[in-house]
Amino acid sequence: MFAPAPCAFQESESRGRRYPEPAHPYRGEFERDRDRIQHARAFRRLENKTQVFTRRYSDHFRNRLTHTLEVAQISRTVARVLGLNEDLTETLALAHDLGHPPFGHAGEQALDRVMRAHGGFFDHNLHALRIVEHFEQRYLEFPGLNLSFEVREGLIKHSRDYDPAQFPGLVEYDLVSRPPLEAQLIDLTDELAYLCADLDDGYEAGLLPLESILPAAPQFDRLYQSLRRRLPSAGSDGLEKLCFSQALRGLLDFLVTGLIEGTRAAMAGFSTSQAVRQHSTRIAGFTPSAESERLALKQFLYRHLYNHPRLLQEKREAEALVERAFHRLLEHPEQLPPGYRNSSETRVRLVCDYLAGMTDGYLRGLGL
Ligand code: MG
Repeated sequence: MFAPAPCAFQESESRGRRYPEPAHPYRGEFERDRDRIQHARAFRRLENKTQVFTRRYSDHFRNRLTHTLEVAQISRTVARVLGLNEDLTETLALAHDLGHPPFGHAGEQALDRVMRAHGGFFDHNLHALRIVEHFEQRYLEFPGLNLSFEVREGLIKHSRDYDPAQFPGLVEYDLVSRPPLEAQLIDLTDELAYLCADLDDGYEAGLLPLESILPAAPQFDRLYQSLRRRLPSAGSDGLEKLCFSQALRGLLDFLVTGLIEGTRAAMAGFSTSQAVRQHSTRIAGFTPSAESERLALKQFLYRHLYNHPRLLQEKREAEALVERAFHRLLEHPEQLPPGYRNSSETRVRLVCDYLAGMTDGYLRGLGL
C-alpha cells in the first residue's frame, strides 16, 4: 500500500552478525532480531520496571513494558507509512528501553551518581548493548543474542550522539555518522508515546486536573473544546473522562501525523540510506505545528507531573534505595550471584551491572 522509500534501510545492506549464522527459511534477519529481543529475560523484566508511576499508584498505569509496546506500535505505523524498514524499526522500538535500571529515571540518576563517585558512569543505552552482547546467555554458539549490526548500532545511537574520543570502545559503530532513519525515528516515537501516556496516567491519578492541561496544550484544548461544543453536558464527571480520552487519541494522532509529514518532507532529498547516514544532522522530525505542541506538552509535564511533590517523594525513596544497595553490595561482594564473582570486570562495574538488571520488585525484596 505504501511505496518503499529510496532511503529505507535494506536488509541486504546489513553488516550482519558478529558470529555469522545460516539464514532462516522464512524469517528475515531483523525479524529474528526482534524475536530474540522478545524472548530475552531483560525484555520480560521491563514489566516490573517503573516508567513514571510505581505500582503503588495503580496496576493499570504504564510500566516500562507497556510503554515499550506503545512505542513499537507507533513506530511500526510511522515506518510503514513512510516506506521505511518496518522490521528494523519495530526491533529497535522493542529494544530501546532494555538497559533501564529499576525505578525509572530516579534509579538511573542514582546509579550514575554513585558510579561517578567511583570514577565511572551509568548510561542506559550502553548498558542495553552490554545486555544483548554479554548478559543474555541462551545460545550454544555465541555469547549474547548475536544481533545484527544495525540493531546494536541503533541501540546506542537512537537517542543521542557519543563523542568518539570519549568512547573509543564504540569505534565499530562509526560514531561520527548518523544512524539510519529507522533508528532516528525511535527517539521521537518514544517521546510521543510517553508524553501522551503520562498525560493520560497523570490525569487518571488526579495529579493533572483538566483545567491545568487545557491552557498548556493548544491542540489538545482545540480537540477537547470541539467535543464540549458537540456535547454540552461534557462537564459532568463520566463524560469529562470520555471526552478527555477522545481528545487524547486525537492528540496522539495529530503528533504522529506531524512526525510522518515532517519526516516525509525531510526524506525527499535522500536517495539512499547511506546518504542519510552521511548527512550532518539527523533528518527525522515534526511539522512546525506538531513540534510546538510537543514542546508545550513536554514543558507542562516537567513542570506539573515529573516534579510533582507526590512523585518526588517516591523518587527520593528510590534513589536512596539504589544508593544503599550499591554501597552494600560493594562492601559485601559475596552477596553477588555466582556468575558475577568470577568476572574480570571491576567490582564497581559488576555491582552496577547487577543493580541495573534488577526489577523494582527484586530490588525492594532484597531488603537492603
Ligand atoms: Mg522509552
